[in-house]
Amino acid sequence: MVYIAGEEMSRYTMELIMKKWVEPSIDTSKWEFYDLSCKARDETNDQVLKDAVAAGARIGSIFKEPTITPTKEQMAEMGLSKALGSPNGAMRRGWNGITISRDTIHIPGIELGFKRPVLFERHAVGGEYGAGWKKVSKGRLLTTFFPENMDEGKPIIVDGRELKDDRSVCVVYDNPLDNVEDLAHIFFQRCLEANVVPYVVTKKTVFKWQEGFWQIMRDVFNAEYKAGATPRLEVEKTGGELQHLISDAATMQIIRWTDGGFGMACHNYDGDMLTDEVAQVHRSPGFITSNLIGKREDGALIKEFEASHGTVADLWHAHLRGEETSMNPLGMVVALFGAMDHAAALANDPKILEQTSKFTGCARAAVYAAFRDGRGTRDMVGPKGLTTEKFVDSAGRTAAG
Ligand code: NAD
Repeated sequence: MVYIAGEEMSRYTMELIMKKWVEPSIDTSKWEFYDLSCKARDETNDQVLKDAVAAGARIGSIFKEPTITPTKEQMAEMGLSKALGSPNGAMRRGWNGITISRDTIHIPGIELGFKRPVLFERHAVGGEYGAGWKKVSKGRLLTTFFPENMDEGKPIIVDGRELKDDRSVCVVYDNPLDNVEDLAHIFFQRCLEANVVPYVVTKKTVFKWQEGFWQIMRDVFNAEYKAGATPRLEVEKTGGELQHLISDAATMQIIRWTDGGFGMACHNYDGDMLTDEVAQVHRSPGFITSNLIGKREDGALIKEFEASHGTVADLWHAHLRGEETSMNPLGMVVALFGAMDHAAALANDPKILEQTSKFTGCARAAVYAAFRDGRGTRDMVGPKGLTTEKFVDSAGRTAAG
């Protein structure tokens, strides 16, 4: 598998986990390691990012620690020679990202926010993230589309408008739709496996251009997942039809539907916002997974596993000041074990699969047991919680036992 190292507290914690949990039991000599710290990216003129993306496409199973896309201030602080783009964006593009799947993590015996799983499918491409924009003044704005093959089609005026304010910002973006069928299959299959009710979330009532996303999702559902063929898909509750939910209604339901047991598929930006809300209802971003699914040119899926939180800079600064910290590693270890299990499945060797699942199963159970027995981190159990280092040692001892 590919292991991508990042920065700050999340990197430090994963170094402890690799040293104390993984390396004593697992032969990592065939893993490919890439260092995506800003320093390493700067020193290699970002070749390391290109190599990591190529390795991910080749191998198909990736674990990634959180990374930093440096601000101007961070560039100066770290002495970087030039601006560095988002590694996450490069991966979504490089691996033909279809969806970012974000799910609640459930610790048996503990109730966090949602009782049953909540699954999210966030379209990994398009929307505001890739927008082109300019600050403009009074005038006229014309947006024109030129077909790739001008012999077959004529230019189309997408929009023409008059800008009346002295200060305006104009923005152009697109929502690619070619991979929405793939997203739909991933989503419905995951809903089937987890036995949860699927919803498609858009603001298509007002944002008319979002109709296409909903239609593709509904067509795939009607053709392949509707009642009969998939008796377990929990659509009976919703009259057997795929339900659409307006995004503002979804923000309210996420707070009300604390029984869980639902899945939502949505556009890129809505997914960004709504999954943060799910993280809050479910206690912490530490209890949410974040997996990018992409597609190689030969059709094989690429799966990248990460936690949904960032580098946890505040705890890192506390650690550097010599203070105690209590970093919750659950999101990252669930991701690491997910990547290990997936890599083992790709290896097509029953012995590797069996031994890897034995390790990841034990280690996962040990982390859950630590939280259940009150040996959790402070975000979970309050001031009595263990420090970052003690948590790693304590759960490690349980797993070894
Ligand atoms: P963050 O998720 O690192 O932290 C937000 C807050 O939640 C902090 O107070 C932090 O202490 C707490 N927190 C988050 N996860 C925790 C955990 N596992 N255990 C205990 N406490 C936890 O977000 P941020 O501070 O906004 O970002 C820090 C850096 O991370 C930024 O440079 C940002 O760009 C980067 N980032 C990277 C990714 C990624 O690579 N996928 C995602 C988000 C943010």
